[in-house]
Amino acid sequence: MSVRENILLRNGLVVTMNQEGDIFRGDVLIEEGRISKLGKIGKTSSCREIDCSNLIIMPGFVHTHIHLCQTLFRGQADDLTLMDWLRRRIWPLESHLDPASMRASARLGIAELIKGGTTAIQDMGSVRHYDVVFEELQHSGLRAVGGKCMMDYSETVPKGLLETTSDSLRQTERLIKMWHNREDGRLRYAVAPRFAVSCTTELLRDAADMAREHGCLLHTHASENRDEIALVEKRERLSNLHFLHKYGFTGEDVTLAHCIWLGGNEKQLIVDTNTGVAHCPSSNLKLASGIAPLVDYLIRDVRVGLGADGAPCNNNLDMFMEMRLAAMIHKPRYGADAITSEQVVRMATIGGAEVLNMADEVGSIETGKKADIIGITDEAVHTQPRRDIYGQLVYATHYHDVQFTMVEGSFLMEKRELTTIDEQATVAAATSELRKLIDRIRS
Ligand SMILES: [Zn+2]
Repeated sequence: MSVRENILLRNGLVVTMNQEGDIFRGDVLIEEGRISKLGKIGKTSSCREIDCSNLIIMPGFVHTHIHLCQTLFRGQADDLTLMDWLRRRIWPLESHLDPASMRASARLGIAELIKGGTTAIQDMGSVRHYDVVFEELQHSGLRAVGGKCMMDYSETVPKGLLETTSDSLRQTERLIKMWHNREDGRLRYAVAPRFAVSCTTELLRDAADMAREHGCLLHTHASENRDEIALVEKRERLSNLHFLHKYGFTGEDVTLAHCIWLGGNEKQLIVDTNTGVAHCPSSNLKLASGIAPLVDYLIRDVRVGLGADGAPCNNNLDMFMEMRLAAMIHKPRYGADAITSEQVVRMATIGGAEVLNMADEVGSIETGKKADIIGITDEAVHTQPRRDIYGQLVYATHYHDVQFTMVEGSFLMEKRELTTIDEQATVAAATSELRKLIDRIRS
């Protein structure tokens, strides 16, 4: 990581995303990685001053559901529905990942995320090699909650990815001890059974207990696809959400990705337990999974964040795309004003931080918070003129408009140049590691 210096962001258009929704033209002082002062700040000598008069300054994006292990598989699994996508393409590819290809995949994904203004993610790994992902997160400077995925149900999981219940739990506990709260809390662990379909009840119950014993989050997929919930109902004679609830997978320390097909009182269960939801509109559309009842969630004050999911079901890790779709795809059903662009920017920033239980530290520009901040050009031809700043960010701004990305006061990208990752080498390694991986599958 680059050396942390005190920084004065001078004269930007600051979109704070605080509770009051304050927006002002002014300065942001960052000392020791935290926001120490906001407003009009006089001459200071002890910090580096950056002219931001042509920039929008806002909190970095928080992706609540990502799979860095899949970035290498971008374009390898187009035009399939979830279970075919998993069984025919993603699981065979994942089962042939080795440490080098895992590293290439994670680094490529992290580079893409930083270039698009993401400062924090929640990541779900594959079954093996998760240390490599944490090493890449550590080196890159990105804030992350992550964990290996857990899969021990032999009837549905392919041999190459199947683990025993005890191995899965043992590996998870080892990773927690190694990585949870490293880098002064920038890296945290989320215990992550892949989904109910791939896990025994013993694994789910013990995983939930383990997470709570160590103060980790819980992260899984839920009710993404109708085939998935039918498999659970057939096996357990319970609806998917009630099944997950029975084994501990609801609550304020839980993120459920997708939550599209919720019936009966399943939505109420999410509300009553204050469970977090990761809404991933690109992935839900591309895998033809469906459209989550997002407006119902927002009306009922469910904590909702956005996420890109994995590169092969998107095919980008781009928060601007997720914001645009989250704002648009619900309009035909609920009405043009059912979700405002401000609500969408909230989900992409402070809302995501709330889902990951880190909103007291990041997610908005407020004094005392860690400086996870991005700068976006406010002079692009495709965004001007504007009437409303949130509308501009959701409907007009692009990934390439992000000029800098900063985590805890350190620039991870400045003037669109990555500071912790060699971009060219990363792309080259991804291409060559994918070629080797496909050779391993064929041999
Ligand atoms: Zn996913």
